Amino acid sequence: MEDTTKHQGLRRQLIEILQEKGISSAQVLQVMSSIPRHFFMDPGLVNFAYEDQAYPIAADQTISQPFTVAFQTQLLEVAPHHKVLEIGTGSGYQTAVLLGLSSQVYTVERQQELFKKTQRLFTKLNLRPKKVVFGDGYKGLPTTAPYDRILVTAGAPEVPKELLEQLTIGGKLVIPVGRKEQIMMRFSKTSEKNFDKESFGKFRFVPLLNNKN
Ligand code: SAH
Repeated sequence: MEDTTKHQGLRRQLIEILQEKGISSAQVLQVMSSIPRHFFMDPGLVNFAYEDQAYPIAADQTISQPFTVAFQTQLLEVAPHHKVLEIGTGSGYQTAVLLGLSSQVYTVERQQELFKKTQRLFTKLNLRPKKVVFGDGYKGLPTTAPYDRILVTAGAPEVPKELLEQLTIGGKLVIPVGRKEQIMMRFSKTSEKNFDKESFGKFRFVPLLNNKN
């Protein structure tokens, strides 16, 4: 697949829409303007890549809406030296955005079909997360913890305590919390047992599943 001037033009328009909707981080906008979202879409939906909407991908999952990707990434406040963990690799688009901000990105996906497909895509696009893991991210990724930033891209019925534990002091977790709809939450770890907690409005995600449900 190619990134044509037509795609680039559509992408510029999408970036303007994100700005109008309140995304103000120059870094996030810059990174998203450089990533061809159409590479991450299902073949039949490529023409919709620059609509600000979520679309189906394999295994009944979705590629998040660009606004949601921008919003979560902005809340995460990633710096280049940060070690970042993403739960819910999905299409890999959000992973690519994180890789534009830090070279140390770890990502976990529990649907094997998506895991395999997206891992191949990363290789093809020369994107290099530190680790692409097949497994249950509900428990985080303890082997390479702690992380400066953790991003959950599926709706969590509750906040997994393992994710809070796997943050560095000063670390941040951005996670949509709720069953039918979710509230975007940000936890900032101020000491081993203390967190500042902020909430940022309603969103809708596919569910974060664990091996019990
Ligand atoms: N960032 C992705 C979002 C995909 S939707 C994108 O923009 O394409 C959320 C993803 O989280 C789905 O792929 C789903 O399979 C995955 N997921 C759900 N529960 C999970 C869990 N416990 N561990 C890891 N991944 C999970």
